[in-house]
Order: sequence, then structure tokens, then C-alpha cells
Amino acid sequence: MTASDCLFCRIAAGDVPADVVHDGERLLAFRDINPQAPVHLLVIPKEHVASLGDAEDEVGALLGEILLLARDLALAEGIAEAGFRTVVNTGRDAGQSVDHLHLHLLGGRSLGWPPG
Ligand code: 5GP
Ligand code: ZN
Repeated sequence: MTASDCLFCRIAAGDVPADVVHDGERLLAFRDINPQAPVHLLVIPKEHVASLGDAEDEVGALLGEILLLARDLALAEGIAEAGFRTVVNTGRDAGQSVDHLHLHLLGGRSLGWPPG
């Protein structure tokens, strides 16, 4: 997998348009094209990591940054107080459909549990 055939690498490179809410040195956050809640953002590393299952120990700090950015975006989107959910789908059974690590940030409504 090279950057040119990965959808989220192409979004990170600016080659595919997205509704970007955060453009940092190492991370990008943008609105999900098919939102499942009033607020549904995706937080991705700009460098290609295929999935959490493929993550090397060396990207531990990056994974922490992703969670902390989700915290900040929840505040910015006005869902921090009511609550929000962060999800990382990994692999087939979890329904991962884009093979570039991404964290879903969902909120703005009451979210059911357990997930389907
Ligand atoms: P997954 O199912 O892999 O956990 O999540 C992939 C997410 O990416 C889905 O929620 C899907 O709606 C979103 N998505 C797929 N293609 C695009 C796109 O081109 N732009 C944006 N903004 N989101 C996308
Ligand atoms: Zn990628």
C-alpha cells in the first residue's frame, strides 16, 4: 500500500477533498462523509499506519496524540460535557473499511451500547 492508493493518505495530502477541522503537523481531523451522529469526526495520523493491529510500538506517542486531539475536538465541537465516544475499528470483524488507522469521534446524541 502506497500513499497514492490509500484514501486517507490522499486526504492527508490534500488530493481528495474533506471537511477538515484540524490540520496539524502529524494529525488530521475531518468530518465523516457518512455521519452516524450529529458530530462524527475522523482523526488520522498523516503517516500511513494500516490499523491498530499493525501499529508498531514506536507509534505509541502518536496514538496518544490521537486520543488527546479527540479530547480537544470534543470540547471544540461542544460535546465534551454531555459525553462522546471514541472508536477504532480494526480488521474484518470490526468492520474496518479504510485501511489507514482512524479514530471515530462521535457525539451529539445518546449512543447505544453495546455496539452491533
Ligand atoms: P471504518 O468503517 O473503517 O471504521 O470507518 C471508515 C469511515 O470513513 C466510515 O465511517 C466512512 O463513512 C468514512 N469515509 C469513507 N470514505 C470517506 C471519504 O472519502 N471522506 C470522508 N470524509 N469519510 C469517508
Ligand atoms: Zn494511508
